[in-house]
Amino acid sequence: MDLVHLSRNVPELIEIDRLAGDLPRGMRVRVLDSIIHHGVELPIHCFEAGPDDPETPVFLLTGGVHGLERIGTHVVIAYMKTLFSHMAWDEAQHDHFKKARLIIVPLVNPAGMLLRSRSNGRGVDLMRNAPVEAVHNSWVPFVGGHRLGPFMAWYRGAGADEGAMEKESQALEELVRSKLFPAKAAISLDVHSGFGTVDRLWFPYAKSRDPFPSLAEVYRLNALLDRSYPNHIYKVEPQSLNYTTHGDLWDYFYDQHHASNSHGGAYLPLALELGSWLWVKKNPLQIFSLLGAFNPIIRHRYQRILRRHLALLDFMTRAAASHGIWSKLSEAERKEINEKAHDRWYSEFEGALPSFAAK
Ligand SMILES: [Zn+2]
Repeated sequence: MDLVHLSRNVPELIEIDRLAGDLPRGMRVRVLDSIIHHGVELPIHCFEAGPDDPETPVFLLTGGVHGLERIGTHVVIAYMKTLFSHMAWDEAQHDHFKKARLIIVPLVNPAGMLLRSRSNGRGVDLMRNAPVEAVHNSWVPFVGGHRLGPFMAWYRGAGADEGAMEKESQALEELVRSKLFPAKAAISLDVHSGFGTVDRLWFPYAKSRDPFPSLAEVYRLNALLDRSYPNHIYKVEPQSLNYTTHGDLWDYFYDQHHASNSHGGAYLPLALELGSWLWVKKNPLQIFSLLGAFNPIIRHRYQRILRRHLALLDFMTRAAASHGIWSKLSEAERKEINEKAHDRWYSEFEGALPSFAAK
């Protein structure tokens, strides 16, 4: 495999490498790890801006966990281009990075993208790979994660139980532990596509239909988004409202953070799930292309999607930096908000399907 092959099959990696070679002032880059695929090194790049102080509030943006969902990486790269351009002339952008950090991993699973596969190069679905067992069963067999083998999508991998996760998952874990866990406040946003007709912002849990401990914080952040962008397009909800899974990496990171959080830092792991079914509905023939179910094919629609999320990503960088408005809650406020949040997101589970212990 050579550069020509790479540029034809993973042009995203060439584009990321180009961005890494032309950094604006204040932006740093390193390689978290490299995935060796048929003798070729596929790097996982990590871009970072802001102070070294580990307590500094941070926003982590990731894409390309599922190799088929190329549009996620494209949305992240589009944001990086706008940001890098601003950093070349906009002093206000540099003022922001005096008090806040931004970390971007645009392509977590380069081998998967090369292979046009949801899974990584070893056939493991990274979003089913963490040592987390679902509390509530998925309504679709296998989609929630299985151990049958890498021949079918949603394979959890052999090492999930022992915590011996795949290289890509471990690289993310090391990053989240070192850069997000010590922070006063952290938001992560992982960009995916392939579910539903609207763009969704998902918060934990994926493993369970029970509320997660930071429900009040996410409710506040949602209220802030509604106030700041009254016409925004996002449906904000717990992932488990749609389906549950074993082995979700962000469930795992969140629970680890929650268990070890001695300094009281806030952490919200979010996923942006782009509603690709609408792209299929408007252009039905694209369902016959392997990538078409997960990515917009028509040019004007593709451009619209690259534009569409810039404001959200900017909002998240600001919300992480000025976190007090959503992260600082009195017990009375938390109780009141929890009740509202429960009514809004969890009441429809009551009396619904019984909960099972997962296999
Ligand atoms: Zn995905």
